[in-house]
Amino acid sequence: MPFPVPRVIVAAILLLLTACGSTPPPVPSLPASSRTDASPAATPTASAGGSVIVPAPGSSSEVYRPNPSAITVAIDPGHGGCLDWGVPDPSQRGIAYSEKAMTLGIGLQLRKLLEAQRIGVVMTRDEDVALAGDRDAAHGCDGPPWRDVDGDGKAGFEQTGRIRTRDELQARIDLANVARADVLVSIHINSPTENGVPVKVAFSETYYDDETPWGVDRSDRLAEAVQHGVASALRHVSYDRQDRGVEARAFYLIARQWAKGDSCTTAGDTWCVPHRGLQEPGVLSEVGSISLKAEQNMLVSEAGQHTIAQGIVDGLATFFADRDLAVRYDALIPGGAAGQQPAAAGGDGPLYWAAVVPRDATSVPLRLTNSGSAPWPAELRLLAGWQASDQPYLAAAPDDLRPLDVTVPALAPGESVEVTLPLTVPDGARQLSWITLASGSTPFTEHGSPALQLANTANR
Ligand SMILES: [Zn+2]
Repeated sequence: MPFPVPRVIVAAILLLLTACGSTPPPVPSLPASSRTDASPAATPTASAGGSVIVPAPGSSSEVYRPNPSAITVAIDPGHGGCLDWGVPDPSQRGIAYSEKAMTLGIGLQLRKLLEAQRIGVVMTRDEDVALAGDRDAAHGCDGPPWRDVDGDGKAGFEQTGRIRTRDELQARIDLANVARADVLVSIHINSPTENGVPVKVAFSETYYDDETPWGVDRSDRLAEAVQHGVASALRHVSYDRQDRGVEARAFYLIARQWAKGDSCTTAGDTWCVPHRGLQEPGVLSEVGSISLKAEQNMLVSEAGQHTIAQGIVDGLATFFADRDLAVRYDALIPGGAAGQQPAAAGGDGPLYWAAVVPRDATSVPLRLTNSGSAPWPAELRLLAGWQASDQPYLAAAPDDLRPLDVTVPALAPGESVEVTLPLTVPDGARQLSWITLASGSTPFTEHGSPALQLANTANR
């Protein structure tokens, strides 16, 4: 169970979680596998701008038929690691019955099912680990050293757990953002109590934040679809369980980022909301509750975890079928592809950083893919801008975004095109570029398609 962020008077956040990562392949290419069940390949055609349009491969994928490998889902199994088991287990039956074990089991099943549908997946953790540190002698935990990921100048485990929690959550947000995932699904389990006494009830409920630019339009629909998928998948259990629907509650992981005028409960605290918020739609689904033993037994079982994962897959299929405008950017440079499990950087700061443009590059080959369900309108433009920053990536667009001289063809869903991205890479101190498609004055970032971000140097 996570803690929400009330909007104006922002309450202190305590959400204890853990995560993990791995190294990306050097130069990207859309996996051939998705073409094995593709419809016979239509021939590439030349676009008005002279670039070659690669037709949608098509597939039998139920999640995104036109081009499943153009989609990336970030899966976040809640909690994890030595210090964070998640909600207390009223049955006290040990680690296998802990929230962190159940969310990981469901997360791994979900990855398997999505990959079987040719959908790309990145995971915040695929084992029982923490990303931002997991070391505390008093608790017998000798995991990785602490990292100050959110940038508040603090790291480590203290009484409130707040500092560690924020660094851990920020690391997970960063992973999804740097991978440019299409959506993030965070899996949690509830353990309701009343006056400290477990309430024996089974239910699912899903949360989203309605204050992001895509909140009402995209995150709400994602929450509805995932909640419906999970509740329907579990309707055959032998005990009563409730479908508690969706609610807009800005849990730290899925909250819009800190903005001027926000405040925290603790005077002087300005870090109770992420300073680098999620740049794609995200939901936090309490898929079940462990206060009812029958439900807990279902949640630890492989069959139960598979059923829930299949419910989430069904929800994602509904969401992607309904998501009209969307784009995937693959910069054809090392580390430039979307959907790669990002490699964790060394050191004691943020783990995940934007890819670096090769020195002296004057342009970057870029593949654009229409990963939505609607054809792109004509006259889309590519906008770009640079900003000096020591951050791993930009939390928001630079003030000065300019149209690039690139012709973007009106691609059909699943189609892609390779264009040349003209870039004047600034010398000197670290700068980040933010590249986004725009339809009229609306950038695709407003629809929840993360911008392509590239750094001019690896120096930090
Ligand atoms: Zn939880």
